[in-house]
Amino acid sequence: TDPAVIPSESVREEYENLADLVRKYRFAYYQEDEPLVSDAEFDSLFRRLEEIEALHPELVANDSPTQEVGGEVSAAFAAVEHLQRMYSLEDVFSLEELEAWLAKAEASVAKIGNGTAGPVWLTELKIDGLAVNLLYRDGKLVRAATRGDGFTGEDITHNVLTIKEIPQELSGTGFPAEMEIRGEVFIPSKAFADFNEALIEAGKAPLANPRNAAAGSLRQKDPAETAKRPLRMFVHGIGAREGLGALSQSETYTLMEKWGLPVSPYFEVLGSLEEVLGFIRKYGDQRHSLLHEIDGIVVKVDNFATQRALGYTTRVPRWAVAYKYPPEEVHTKLLDIAVNV
Ligand code: NAD
Repeated sequence: TDPAVIPSESVREEYENLADLVRKYRFAYYQEDEPLVSDAEFDSLFRRLEEIEALHPELVANDSPTQEVGGEVSAAFAAVEHLQRMYSLEDVFSLEELEAWLAKAEASVAKIGNGTAGPVWLTELKIDGLAVNLLYRDGKLVRAATRGDGFTGEDITHNVLTIKEIPQELSGTGFPAEMEIRGEVFIPSKAFADFNEALIEAGKAPLANPRNAAAGSLRQKDPAETAKRPLRMFVHGIGAREGLGALSQSETYTLMEKWGLPVSPYFEVLGSLEEVLGFIRKYGDQRHSLLHEIDGIVVKVDNFATQRALGYTTRVPRWAVAYKYPPEEVHTKLLDIAVNV
């Protein structure tokens, strides 16, 4: 063994402190809906953890934050087992890293063969909200859950039933008898500003940001409280789906739209890296004039057979990646608050 990679006591100590800190921040973010640090700060701690693990794989335990989807099930909610596991996303923080990721995925696809000429990319906005899993049986919404640890989520069915955009019954025909729809619940930026203005006028404390407001709203004990919040949802995935007659995710979106599910107007199906970079530039420029807040772009392999062939790590799919825009100055948020006051 190379002595340079044997972790010293101080590396082990840094690693354990860092892992504890990441766990603590995740708990505040997912369980209490009240982050203690900015996402950029959290992301850099998480990345440091990954770097140490890459150098010292023997430190990686099964309960390392890098091996788990952040989030647990709070005692305030009933636990719900997902029919199919829910995952997180691998992050990249620069265009160079994204290019390298896409090239690697293309090479893996070429190796697998699969009869495809190379991946077609489904590009989407990374909506800054809360993931939900909707279970439809024979077209009827029977259960809704948070992601939780990816295996088990929290039962938030009563709260989700208050969101008008989410159909309680699907329209049309051809849906699988049992189907899990994954999507992001969010509060649109304008509705968030209006909601906060009303709170301030009523002498109440404004909500910190749309993401935590959406998460906090969905995890209310009283659905009547949830109903007061301007929540919306866009689908971004599918879990259990036996008998679904679609070969790709984008094709599934077309079906979902027909069934009355809310599909984002922002996704595109692109054939080349240049087009993906163009998509990133376009939405980087428009970032603040979109319907909702975003914290990046998600690039996915569109074809289901290729997704299956690429598979998953313990935490993320190998067929999707999230590109995070560089963090911005916080002046826009402060200005918004100043205007509201
Ligand atoms: P993630 O948010 O990076 O990626 C996975 C999630 O992205 C999915 O579960 C889904 O909910 C969401 N998503 C949004 N749009 C999507 C789309 N188009 N397609 C697929 N998924 C989409 O991963 P994560 O594990 O949920 O959490 C990490 C994120 O949470 C990071 O952004 C991190 O900064 C933040 N975080 C912050 C703190 C903090 O203290 N500030 C703590 C924990 C996590």
